Amino acid sequence: MYALGIDIGSTATKVVIVDDAAFVKASAICDLGAGTSGADKAVADAFSQLGIAWDDISYTVATGYGRQRFERANKQVSELSCHAKGLASQLPQTRTIIDIGGQDAKALRLGPGGMLENFVMNEKCAAGTGRFLDVMARVLESDISQLGELDAQARVPVEISSTCTVFAESEVISHLAAGESIPDIVAGIHVSVAKRTVGLVRRLGAVEGPVAMSGGVARNAGMVRALERELGMEISVPPNCQLCGALGAALYAIERAHRG
Ligand code: ADP
Repeated sequence: MYALGIDIGSTATKVVIVDDAAFVKASAICDLGAGTSGADKAVADAFSQLGIAWDDISYTVATGYGRQRFERANKQVSELSCHAKGLASQLPQTRTIIDIGGQDAKALRLGPGGMLENFVMNEKCAAGTGRFLDVMARVLESDISQLGELDAQARVPVEISSTCTVFAESEVISHLAAGESIPDIVAGIHVSVAKRTVGLVRRLGAVEGPVAMSGGVARNAGMVRALERELGMEISVPPNCQLCGALGAALYAIERAHRG
């Protein structure tokens, strides 16, 4: 018996398939989000890894921004619950989760046993989200996956004073025109996102450790380092950080399947 979790985000679609024993058997990430063919593509990718089809799936849970429109789902669960469950299954001691996705940033407080106790969210503005980093990477003619490595080469991060994505983009262009190095600009961008994110996290009150990070932006090691410095705390990142929401959905799905 298999169960499927799908996280249809604003920017990317993630799928995790687990077996009876809740072990991950296949996973896929497609860089297309809600309202696109991303869901079909990610599911097809995961199915092909196991040589299975929809008939082999006992229960499906959908989460993420596009969850309501995924007709194959037996149930929809909020991304907050799914991220909490997916992350706690890997790092059970976690008390605070920072989740930065394509178009929003969230901070979650977990109680003992991984129960979601409280959360805060920025979904009003691209600043402080993956979108901000995507825009800056494009201006710097770099791939988003290179930002972590570029950050590691920085000497003196530049200052980015605007929080608005459009103004910050102009600032980055001015820094480029002034001959600042790309690593120093990347590090400055990371510091600016980190300041904004830590402001969000502190709205939860005193930050309780251990802290962990989920979401696609956690794949950027430079961003994680900048957050650690700004927060003054260590941040753990599970190896499949972008899949946390889909993993949580798959774990809910297999529990439901067992309950019949
Ligand atoms: P959503 O669920 O909102 O679609 P995700 O959690 O999937 O968002 O994260 C998407 C974001 O992750 C992208 O906007 C991008 O900034 C970032 N990202 C994706 N892949 C990488 C990578 N290889 N390295 C660094 N950042 C990445």
